[in-house]
Amino acid sequence: MMIDLRSDTVTRPSEGMRRAMSMAEVGDDVWGDDPTVLRLQAVVAERAGKEAALFFPSGTQANLAAIMAHCGRGDEVIVGQNAHTYKFEGGGAAVLGSVQPQPIDNAEDGTLPLVKIAAAIKPRDEHFARTRLLALENTIGGKVLPAAYVEEATAYGRSRGLANHLDGARVCNAAVASGRPLAALCAPFDSVSICFSKGLGAPIGSVLVGSRAYLAEAHRWRKVLGGGMRQSGLLAAACLYALEHNYARLAQDHDHAERLARGLAEVAGVELLSQDTNMVFARFAASVCPAVEAWLKERGILAQILPRTRFVTHLDVGSDDIARVIEALKAYPGRAATEHDGG
Ligand SMILES: *Cc1c(COP(=O)(O)O)cnc(C)c1O
Repeated sequence: MMIDLRSDTVTRPSEGMRRAMSMAEVGDDVWGDDPTVLRLQAVVAERAGKEAALFFPSGTQANLAAIMAHCGRGDEVIVGQNAHTYKFEGGGAAVLGSVQPQPIDNAEDGTLPLVKIAAAIKPRDEHFARTRLLALENTIGGKVLPAAYVEEATAYGRSRGLANHLDGARVCNAAVASGRPLAALCAPFDSVSICFSKGLGAPIGSVLVGSRAYLAEAHRWRKVLGGGMRQSGLLAAACLYALEHNYARLAQDHDHAERLARGLAEVAGVELLSQDTNMVFARFAASVCPAVEAWLKERGILAQILPRTRFVTHLDVGSDDIARVIEALKAYPGRAATEHDGG
């Protein structure tokens, strides 16, 4: 087995999860009668402190349907330049939703400064798109958004007539890292999308939570986007299993990331940039990136080595693996790793 630090999406379903999937009671969810999907939605809604939940095949689709349920044609969403929904989802809100994104620069801690949000909200005038939605992300680059900031930003959005959406792909990491209940992190938002295919370790699946009326609208868009699934209880069973078995253990991933960061700090030529929750960022000299990546691969370690490298820990990475990664980097021969070309 390779040690795969490229992302927490690479986790494979465990034996227990596969068993839960194989035994799942199923129905046709487009008809609304897959009992396992209904159970997942009820459980997640409850855990997130919302009225209702809806199961999606991917986080991308959950975010898109979420935006489309908040915004109509010619409406606008305020979103971070680095936000997944803006940067890494193919421009879906604009392409498929006729929704104009208004990106603003994220601060170093991942927040969107209130003054910038305020300046980006358009006057109600036919010249402008109608600003309808503020979308935040938690965690972002592994960073947990400060709770006080989230309160303030969402309250401000509301005061300006905006709805609030959270891309909570890794909101479970944020909850575990901050020792707060999931519901507390979701409370300030009208809608939250939560990934089960990341650190929670399910093969597929995201859940969008919100009010019943809001999710009725999102349900319609899910169908339009091709996200109506049939015997999806097989997948929902994996998500239920993940919630039960893999939620609290996210703390281990955070510990492993911390250990990896400590180790990286001791590797000559590697500059540790940050570590938050299950992500570690480090700088490598551009000239050595391909060679270091190959060196690691030969030693059973998969990582995308870039000048700004992201290592992600997850449930298929154990404590011994962390030690092996640090060892392999320390053993990188010659002075190549110390030829730091900065930048
Ligand atoms: C992974 C991720 C998503 C959704 O990605 P999918 O691969 O479509 O499930 C959305 N937002 C963030 C922050 C993510 O990390």
